[in-house]
Amino acid sequence: MYKKHIESPELQAGFEKILEGNKQWMKLVAEDTTGRYQQLAKGQSPEILWIGCADSRVPANQITNTLPGEVFVHRNIANMCVHSDMNMLSVLDYAVNVLKVKHVIVAGHYGCGGVAASLSRKQFGIIDNWLCHIKDVYRLHSEEIDAIQDEEKKVNRLVELNVAEQVSNLCSTSIIQNAWKERDDLAVHGVVIDIATGKIVDLDITFTNSEGLGKVLAFA
Ligand SMILES: [Zn+2]
Repeated sequence: MYKKHIESPELQAGFEKILEGNKQWMKLVAEDTTGRYQQLAKGQSPEILWIGCADSRVPANQITNTLPGEVFVHRNIANMCVHSDMNMLSVLDYAVNVLKVKHVIVAGHYGCGGVAASLSRKQFGIIDNWLCHIKDVYRLHSEEIDAIQDEEKKVNRLVELNVAEQVSNLCSTSIIQNAWKERDDLAVHGVVIDIATGKIVDLDITFTNSEGLGKVLAFA
């Protein structure tokens, strides 16, 4: 067994704070009289898969006012749904085919650092290769983005367009399309979070079947 070994008192204190916070949480769990947590210990049946940004300011549960057990979550930088990302595909497959979630939500957020970085020509490190996927989205909409003068608005518009593109990527997976052949209770949504107000802005790009995906994206 590895032994805990933190020499820096500051580092130790930072970790202790997490454990202290957990004591508060344990108190809430202990005070719960509904039996909810005993039930959750046995299994989960969430109705929502949330694919959000890894940004610390957009925690799925708090923003949707949901409890543990209600949202299955996948997060990465800039809430990307990359066709060949085995991590995302595994989460999606499990959520759709085992948990049978009813809603898959791609949630971007205004002021996304990943999206902002993708609009720059600077190198940031290994992340540059991930950001290429967002640059691909920019390339599809470069005319519209380039016409926007304000830098913040430029980023925020690309945030919206990126969410739309990721929704399209999700809908074109064999996982979603095969599920739609069997069920009519699966919706894929695209939203953007406004961190300053907490509001979830619905982009109105919900798909419940492969209609509207175009003849190439929709499998026959
Ligand atoms: Zn972000």
